[in-house]
Amino acid sequence: MRKPLPIKALFDSDYIDQQVYVAGWLRSARRGKRFSFAVLNDGSCFQSLQIVIDNSRFPAHVLDNLHTGGCIAVEGTVVRSPGREQAIELQAQNITIFGTADPATYPLQKKQHSLEFLRTIAHLRPRTRFFSAVLRIRNTLSYAIHQFFQERGFFYIHTPIITASDCEGAGELFQVTTFDLNDVPKQDGMVDYQQDFFGKPAYLTVSGQLNVETTALALTKVYTFGPTFRAEHSNTPRHLAEFWMVEPEMAFYDLEDTMDLAEEFLKNIIQKVLDNHQDDLAFLSQFNQVDLTERLKRVIQEPYERLPYTEAIAILEASKKNFQFPVKWGIDLKTEHERYLTEEYFKKPVIVYNYPAEVKAFYMRQNDDGKTVAAMDVLFPEVGEIIGGSQREERYERLLQRIQTLGLKIEDYHWYLAIRQYGSAPHSGFGLGLERLVQFCTGMANIRDTIPFPRAYGLLNF
Ligand code: ATP
Ligand code: MN
Repeated sequence: MRKPLPIKALFDSDYIDQQVYVAGWLRSARRGKRFSFAVLNDGSCFQSLQIVIDNSRFPAHVLDNLHTGGCIAVEGTVVRSPGREQAIELQAQNITIFGTADPATYPLQKKQHSLEFLRTIAHLRPRTRFFSAVLRIRNTLSYAIHQFFQERGFFYIHTPIITASDCEGAGELFQVTTFDLNDVPKQDGMVDYQQDFFGKPAYLTVSGQLNVETTALALTKVYTFGPTFRAEHSNTPRHLAEFWMVEPEMAFYDLEDTMDLAEEFLKNIIQKVLDNHQDDLAFLSQFNQVDLTERLKRVIQEPYERLPYTEAIAILEASKKNFQFPVKWGIDLKTEHERYLTEEYFKKPVIVYNYPAEVKAFYMRQNDDGKTVAAMDVLFPEVGEIIGGSQREERYERLLQRIQTLGLKIEDYHWYLAIRQYGSAPHSGFGLGLERLVQFCTGMANIRDTIPFPRAYGLLNF
């Protein structure tokens, strides 16, 4: 099949007076007396191409079927546009109509639709200006993530989606089963998992970390980047039930090395958005009424504040703010606290480290003070926590003791403990939620507008 030239190419280099073949979807179409005008977009870039159609050269069945939402291919000559709205336009010689769209029923009209409405037509949402911009930026971030790690000698590891245990002991798990839930086999009144697919309970992964640690203690620097699942019951603009997480894990890195890496990583990938998405950012800035270029530059230029948890608590207490969740040493920081630190107090990203052991996962390295662990969270303005990481407990006895104290099942973690028995090494890593970063870079207030088909509590369409 004949391959169209991406519309982006027409704006990136000079095609004036050249014959080209393009294809895409009509953003709008207007029939005039002598000429018709169609606005064609193929998603390759933010800009659309204006098509000028001399009505006398086309049969009625073509002219009658140019409607918003239709898919057409056009062969024509690129010319400078006399209009002020665009630099170039295409004078059509041949038009192929691939797919029509009935204007009486096509749900995307020229007027601005609400974001809530657009979520209900997620199958057509990629055709909108805002969402195609979000998807392009999401793509750039994903590619930049791989590039960043590949250029630094990290190996990409695929960790399992189905897991045997709640790896963080944090709950929020989706169970995986092939049982007919209306007729579950029982033994002494309890579910008989021996008859289930795996012969035991199974879950969707909440993080690839525990598994990826085993490869860090063999390949030294690794990362996993895949879907994760959390049965978050809270209906927040920052939580999805299915999201994508990138998790680097490094042998011979301590907590400070990990903070350095996280900061370099964020700056590097956000720079790529600035470098490649001027048009998308300009549109999204206007759409969300925020200066995104300024927002992104700010988190690239300045060094991030690094702050022990205990000092963060002192700052929050001294703020005299009336927080919904009262502040005292020992609490986990909530979004309101994170946003006060980043938006009001420091006015830049903040890395809080050395959290109380009680609010963090069992595998984090115990500090000598007997109260805190070597954990760090990177907090961003607007979105709050964007990265969570830690140095891992590499001392077998300490880890065993912690697992026992928390009442976790040792059998579940025998393999995780074993890598501390055989050739253990200091190691660290972190997790970045891709959608939180997309939210920050695009200015979308709700995380449901950062992924093509959002899954959240009570929300599973398409
Ligand atoms: P939060 O306190 O915001 O729920 P968390 O402490 O549960 O986050 P981690 O377990 O440290 O988060 O996960 C690492 C990263 O994954 C977070 O920093 C965040 O960017 C992202 N993340 C966590 N939960 C979600 C979710 N439900 N939806 C989207 N991203 C998430
Ligand atoms: Mn959470």
